[in-house]
Amino acid sequence: MSVSSRVFISLLALWLTTVTLGQPATELSRDPARAPVSVSDVALFWRAYDAWTESGAANDRLAATLQTEYLDKASEGVKDFTPNRIESAASLAAKILEDRAYYERARPYAEKIAVLEPEIRTLYRRFREWYPDARFPALYFVVGRRNSGGMSSPRALIIGAEMFGDEKARLRFDVMVPMVAHELMHFQQQTSEEKGSGFLASCIREGSADFLAERLAGRHINESIKSYGDSHERELWERFQVDLKRKDGHRGWLYNGRDPNRVGPPDLGYYMGYKITQAFYQAAADPAEALRTIIEMRDPEVILKESRYAERFGRPEK
Ligand SMILES: [Zn+2]
Repeated sequence: MSVSSRVFISLLALWLTTVTLGQPATELSRDPARAPVSVSDVALFWRAYDAWTESGAANDRLAATLQTEYLDKASEGVKDFTPNRIESAASLAAKILEDRAYYERARPYAEKIAVLEPEIRTLYRRFREWYPDARFPALYFVVGRRNSGGMSSPRALIIGAEMFGDEKARLRFDVMVPMVAHELMHFQQQTSEEKGSGFLASCIREGSADFLAERLAGRHINESIKSYGDSHERELWERFQVDLKRKDGHRGWLYNGRDPNRVGPPDLGYYMGYKITQAFYQAAADPAEALRTIIEMRDPEVILKESRYAERFGRPEK
């Protein structure tokens, strides 16, 4: 296919996406069929990248091209993904130039994201059946700086497409849908009355997003942490109870990829929250009510207690 017809087709795809979006993207849909799903930022990014390579790929030109051809034209998803993640055109250009091959390997995966849309809509529909109050904000797939698989903002779910790909990528492509589900849970959590803060609340907030993502998508977002957790469950629980009472106890468990003193592999707090949520859900008489309690999380201590998770290991020490 010639370059010009390729450009035409991608322009057409952009136009179709814009038209399909129809409603203002900030609208929060209750209808799983109407919630906007957009890959236009991915197309924009790769058009900008191609324009840069076709013009000679001078390192010092990349940031300017990304600014005018990607960031300036991008969606509100990219705008929400910029603070702390993309940061700036210069930061993004520096990251790409560090390892262009990484981005190029991720490209064919990013360019087939549209095939996931039916699975995403099915997952949305299933979620609405379980949780009738569900809101479905616009979902944007964007290209970032290899530092975030996804986030939920007050108006959108945003997935960092470059994180997903083959076994050398940060995340495998087949966990992209569970990642969407994980961020969808965070979106409900932040729009509910939920006010829980602190270490236990953080673990349950992350772990419940993983638990519900697994139930919705049929696969866990992080199989390796799950299998590590399953094979060390008792010792993890014993250490977790001690750390819950310590002021800096969270450091061993959450957001600690670079901390050599952490407990086991990074972010095992997600696993603890996952197990507590799972136990709570299994012990509950009414699954719909349990789901609401998990999402709204008015009191993480009550969830832990009513989960009866501790009883699996004998009575916890007083
Ligand atoms: Zn999360």
